[in-house]
Amino acid sequence: MKVPVNEPLLTQNAKKYVNQCLDTNWISSAGEFITKFEEKFCSFNKMKYGVANSSGTASLHLAMLSLEIGKGDEVILPAQTMISTAAAVMYVGARPVLVDSEIDTYNMDTNKIESKITKKTKAILMVDLFGHPVDYKPILKIAKNYNLFTIDDAAQAHGAKYNDKNVGSMTDISCFSFYANKIITTGEGGMMLTNNKKIFENAKLYRDMYHNKNQRFFHDKIGYNYRMTNLQAAIGLAQLEKIEKFIKIKKMMAKRYIKNLKNVKGIKLPIEKDYAKSVYWMFTILINEKDFGINRNQLMNELRKNKIDTRTTFISLNKQPPIKKWYKNQKYPVSEHVEKTGMYLPSGLAITNKQIDYVSECIKKIHKKYNL
Ligand SMILES: *Cc1c(COP(=O)(O)O)cnc(C)c1O
Repeated sequence: MKVPVNEPLLTQNAKKYVNQCLDTNWISSAGEFITKFEEKFCSFNKMKYGVANSSGTASLHLAMLSLEIGKGDEVILPAQTMISTAAAVMYVGARPVLVDSEIDTYNMDTNKIESKITKKTKAILMVDLFGHPVDYKPILKIAKNYNLFTIDDAAQAHGAKYNDKNVGSMTDISCFSFYANKIITTGEGGMMLTNNKKIFENAKLYRDMYHNKNQRFFHDKIGYNYRMTNLQAAIGLAQLEKIEKFIKIKKMMAKRYIKNLKNVKGIKLPIEKDYAKSVYWMFTILINEKDFGINRNQLMNELRKNKIDTRTTFISLNKQPPIKKWYKNQKYPVSEHVEKTGMYLPSGLAITNKQIDYVSECIKKIHKKYNL
């Protein structure tokens, strides 16, 4: 049996809506699906304004631009995340200041934020890693005390909840990705949400080359082409209609993996904090070599031999060549532990129970083989 690490689930309406674009020639960045998708995604998250755009990375860049964060500024973010979170900060000439992870959820350790704040700090950029919400309450409190902007990189956590609130609804700005492996997809795409009209207007200008509102082709600033196409929004709208079902699938997947693997020694399974409803974007496990028998890389190799595709967790940002010089004298032990021992199992929305059981059985067999 072949098991890909991630396969999206496309629905009948996607075809129907895309065909409507093709039939009417509305294939570029104007058209009814873009505003519809923005409105529906806003109402799903109980937010006022949405700026659909070309990627999750572009959404993060738009967040930085619309807050006018730039040279000389610092933005606090977790060390254990995808490079896009830090890249957006670098695009505007600001510096990412990294915070280590906590071991329960691998999210940013909220106890380690305050000591990173300086006069240059402008914002805290948090991430809901692997679909599990970060602990918002202490972060929002720190941000309020120090008068900092809050931005949520919710690219992995559409529909995840912190107490009763959606991630993406508690910060000044939130950013989502609709890449093919995310909770919902447009192929490529992203959206920035906010309740602040000024931020919203500014982000819209930056999304489309900063054309002056009264005089087109006059540009007060240099903008970007970060527009989403009507074709992408058509797929996005069809995906959004199914988001509750998709989240249910993710939860059932996690439940089944946990049931199958809970007695295997040396595997740390994902948990859900009291405040959290995770959407299990990727089913992430840590491998303890001593107890499991082999290490993470060896397990990934063994699974590959069984045609099972997996991925490692993220390489800690403090080790990335373009920025590592800034973190030379700092330590990120938890993030690096997650980096070295973490991996995700096949977690796509198209995964079947048979595939989950096959992956679990293979892991158990491998564990046995090295524990004779
Ligand atoms: C996927 C992802 C992004 C980037 O989204 P793209 O659409 O691929 O640009 C940013 N941050 C996190 C945490 C992600 O997982």
